[in-house]
Amino acid sequence: MPKLSRVFLLSVFLLSIPLTVSTHASRPDGTAWLDVYREPAARLIGEAMSSRFAWERLALLGDTFGHRLSGSRSLEEAIQWTIGEMKKDGLENVHTEPVKVPHWVRGQESLEVILPRARPLVMLGLGNSVGTPAAGVDGDLLIVRNFEELDSAGPRVKGRIVLFNVPFTNYGETVQFRGNGPSRAATLGAVAALVRSVGPAGLRLPHTGGLRYTDGAPQIPAAAIATEDADFLQRMQDRGTTVRLRLKMEAKFLPDADSFNVVGEIRGREKPDEVVVVGGHIDSWDVGTGSTDDGGGCIATWDALRLMKKLNLRPRRTVRVVLWTNEENGTRGGTAYRDRYKDQLANHVLMLESDDGLLHPSGFGFTGNDAARTRIKEIATLLRGIQLDRIGPAGDGADIGPSVQAGNIPAMSLEGDGNYFLIHHTPADTIDKIDPMDVSRASAAIAVLAYVVAERAEGLK
Ligand SMILES: [Zn+2]
Repeated sequence: MPKLSRVFLLSVFLLSIPLTVSTHASRPDGTAWLDVYREPAARLIGEAMSSRFAWERLALLGDTFGHRLSGSRSLEEAIQWTIGEMKKDGLENVHTEPVKVPHWVRGQESLEVILPRARPLVMLGLGNSVGTPAAGVDGDLLIVRNFEELDSAGPRVKGRIVLFNVPFTNYGETVQFRGNGPSRAATLGAVAALVRSVGPAGLRLPHTGGLRYTDGAPQIPAAAIATEDADFLQRMQDRGTTVRLRLKMEAKFLPDADSFNVVGEIRGREKPDEVVVVGGHIDSWDVGTGSTDDGGGCIATWDALRLMKKLNLRPRRTVRVVLWTNEENGTRGGTAYRDRYKDQLANHVLMLESDDGLLHPSGFGFTGNDAARTRIKEIATLLRGIQLDRIGPAGDGADIGPSVQAGNIPAMSLEGDGNYFLIHHTPADTIDKIDPMDVSRASAAIAVLAYVVAERAEGLK
C-alpha cells in the first residue's frame, strides 16, 4: 500500500478516538471500561491494515516449503523456519516442544475404470489408508447414498468396491462417510472403499482427509474421487451398467516421526503465568500448500504477537502463540500441549484457534460462561471498523480442544463465510485464493482480542 493511504488509514482510526473518549461518561451500554483500549486497538488495526506483511509471510511459507504432512521433511523445515522468524520478530521464549507424530506416506496411486471401457478417474487416497497390492485391487462397483443403503445391500457388498456417493451438505454431516465409511463397508466384505469428495462440487477436484479404521474391522484401502466422477459412476449404475474398477495405492505407515509444536510469547508484565493462547496448526495434508488449512491460521495468530511487539504493547498477562503439529492425522500436537501444560491450564484465560481458512473472515465463535461472553462481545465492538465484531454461539478447534476440555477454558475460533470447503484438503489450497486484506483483518482482530483480554485487570470476568 502506498505511504499516503497508510497515513490516511491511520488518521481515520486516530481521529475517531477523541470523539469516543469524550462521550464515555454517558455511554449507556456499560462499555466505558473499553475506552482505554480504543487507542491501542486503533494502533493495532492501523498497523495491520497498512501492510501486506502477514500475507507475504504466508505466501513465503507455502512457496518455500510446500505442503507439510506429519513426518515430512518439509514440515520440519517449515518449523525450523518459524523459529528463526519469530526470533527476528522479537518474540520471547521462542522454542519447540517435541511431539511424536504418525508418519503416513501416500506414494503413487491411481483409480481407473477397466470395464466397460477403460478410463482414469481423479482420486486422492484417504489419509491413514492402507495400500493395495502392487497389481491393485479390482472389483465391481456398488454405489450407496447413505449407511442404510449399505446395510440393506448386505451380502451384495462382498467383493465389491463401494462408493459412498453422498453430496456435501456441511462438513460435520458429510465427513462421517469419509471417516467411518471404509470400515462399515469392510465389515460387509467390501475390498475397497471410495467416497465422493467431502466438499461442494468444484472443478473435478478430489479432497483427501483422514479415515479411522474401526477396531476389529478388516482394513481396506480407501480413496476420495471428484464429484463429477461420482456423478458419472452413479449414472452408469442407474442405467444398470456393471462398472469394474481398479484401485492402486502405495500408501503406508512408517514408524512415528519426531516433530514439534512451536511456541512464542510476549511475556506479561504483571502476571506472566496467566496466558492467552492463540494459534493454528503448522502441518497440512500433502496436497496444495496448506495455505488456508492452516498456514493462514498460523500466520495470522503469530502476526497478532508481532503487531504487539512492533507497537511496544506489553499486556499484563502473557500472550502465547502456539503452532501445533499433526492436527490433520492425529491431533498429537494438541494433546501434547494439554499434557505438557496440565498443571497450568487453570491459568489459561482464553484459547483462540484459527483453522477455518482466511477466506473472508466474518467473526468469531465463542464458548464460555455468560459473563465471559459479554466481555468478548464488548471487546469485539472494537472490531466494527474491520467487520469482525460478530460473535457466534460456539468457539472451538481441534488443537485447542483437548486443553479447553481438560481445563474448562473459554474458547474462540475465527470464522469465515468464504468457500473454504471448496478447496479444503485439495491441490487447490494455495495462497492465490486468499486476499491480503483478509489476512490483515484477521491478524488485527486477533491482536486486539488477545491484547485486551491479556491486559484487562479482571480478564474475562
Ligand atoms: Zn485445519
